[in-house]
Amino acid sequence: MARYTGPVCRQCRREGAKLYLKGDKCYTDKCPFTRRGYAPGQHGQNNRRKPSEYGIQLREKQKARRTYGILERQFRTYFEKADRQKGITGENLLVLLERRLDNVVYRLGLAGSRTQARQLVRHGHYTVNGKRVDIPSAQVKAGDVIQVAEGSKSSPIIKEIGEALAHKTVPAWLELSAADMSGKVVRYPTREEIDLPIQEHLIVELYSR
Ligand code: SF4
Repeated sequence: MARYTGPVCRQCRREGAKLYLKGDKCYTDKCPFTRRGYAPGQHGQNNRRKPSEYGIQLREKQKARRTYGILERQFRTYFEKADRQKGITGENLLVLLERRLDNVVYRLGLAGSRTQARQLVRHGHYTVNGKRVDIPSAQVKAGDVIQVAEGSKSSPIIKEIGEALAHKTVPAWLELSAADMSGKVVRYPTREEIDLPIQEHLIVELYSR
């Protein structure tokens, strides 16, 4: 599946919000958004035009899409699936995004960012219920156990991740076992448990135009 390969921090500046795409760097004063919190490009600092309703909806969708690191076509597919499900479409959409394997790996602290999680999943560093899964978009289910593959535990990058796990807190819908670098999906998250400043109803309005 294709992915965005341009400058990462530019996306936060474009959306006017920290999207935490770079792991540890996002929490330091090296974060470019902290220093230049305006839109990128020649007119980024002087654009005072009031955004249209469409513009606001579009930005909200882009923010969600970029947070999870997925491209437009796949995001649209998630929306269509969410729309077919019972319940509130916007919330269904966020739950589907949260259930991506790369997101769950990130939420468990088994990777430093969603971008890193995606790459490590692709390289086959995790198992789901004992079987190696290398598809970042794979949907996890309640009861699934995600673990760092045995053979990967000696890799320097995984060791570094493991050392940081001792202080990791995870959302209530997940359970972390830091000692064996594994985690369980206890249930699906509620909207309140998805700590993202996204107004999902604006995304629904955008796609319902
Ligand atoms: Fe966004 Fe993180 Fe880059 Fe800051 S360091 S601009 S939060 S990706």
